[in-house]
Amino acid sequence: MFVDEAQVHLRAGRGGDGCVGFRREKFLPKGGPDGGDGGKGGDVVLIGDENVSDLTEFRHTPSLRAKNGDSGQGRDRFGHAGNDLIVRLPLGTVVFDPETNRVVTELTQHNERIVLLHGGRGGKGNLHFKSSTNRTPLQSTPGQPGEEGSFQLVLKTIADVGLVGYPNAGKSSLTNCLTQARPKTAPYPFTTLHANVGIIDYPEQFERISIADIPGLIEGASENRGLGHEFLRHIERCRALLMMLDMAGTDARDPLDDYKHLLAELKKYSPELLKKPLVVAANKMDEPDAAANLKRFKKKYKKVPIWEISCMTGTGLDELKAELRVQVRAAGK
Ligand code: GDP
Ligand code: MG
Repeated sequence: MFVDEAQVHLRAGRGGDGCVGFRREKFLPKGGPDGGDGGKGGDVVLIGDENVSDLTEFRHTPSLRAKNGDSGQGRDRFGHAGNDLIVRLPLGTVVFDPETNRVVTELTQHNERIVLLHGGRGGKGNLHFKSSTNRTPLQSTPGQPGEEGSFQLVLKTIADVGLVGYPNAGKSSLTNCLTQARPKTAPYPFTTLHANVGIIDYPEQFERISIADIPGLIEGASENRGLGHEFLRHIERCRALLMMLDMAGTDARDPLDDYKHLLAELKKYSPELLKKPLVVAANKMDEPDAAANLKRFKKKYKKVPIWEISCMTGTGLDELKAELRVQVRAAGK
């Protein structure tokens, strides 16, 4: 199951207490103070990790804490610092304060490191309290408590529908046709790719879904570079996929091969991707070669439902739009 929200309680470690101790040696009956300081408590450190894909882990362990610092000891021994609690989060995780709903921080880069909560300082041992008037101080200070808090973790979904297709299949054209507002480029900071996220409105149902046209997909597919890794990571966060095929076979492409290769790329990256609802659209049906290609496609892939459209003439767009809503709902929006 893909978990994209979780509530966690995190606590940094408490500082160790300072120690009251005196030197006791055979020929030194009244030795000076030698109580060491307590160690610092561990911090709570968040690290962005591209290998973590969701927040499932926190469903099982909603409460985590860093280690406390050790207390100081006699003979000037300082307590060890407590180990930090390292929390690895998927890229695109936003950390909210659930009370104010303010964004506390956001993890966007692999290996990015954020100290969320600080461990408490260790207490001072009595050796700090020695003075000319007090050679046998009995004071020490306790360790400070670590910071703690509850946080809401939310993994940003890029869009409800992710568009998959070779360059020039008509992805941008479709996004323009289906979305009222001109899609604006949303710079997703956790990627070098920029997504055009458009909103599709369903006024009768009072609903809207978002669709992401992520350029950069298989730029260089012609050199057999395949779908970019980063692109696929985005697609992973969409609820449904829309595969666009250029049924006219422009630039001597064969839409049947395109379909096969795109599926293979998705599967290669993660077989899980193929469990998402996938809508296949045959674009450019207004072109002369499209009908014959579609006929071949239907013969070869008998069981694949295919939506015939033309972004140029607008044919089939209403039906496709309705189907996208059905699939996104089925995926649990
Ligand atoms: P993208 O690279 O997938 O975003 O493709 P674009 O939306 O930029 O379209 C690539 C080219 O195909 C453009 O010249 C479009 O005008 C053209 N195009 C898109 N949809 C259609 C269509 O339905 N019919 C025809 N004939 N051309 C189309
Ligand atoms: Mg485009």
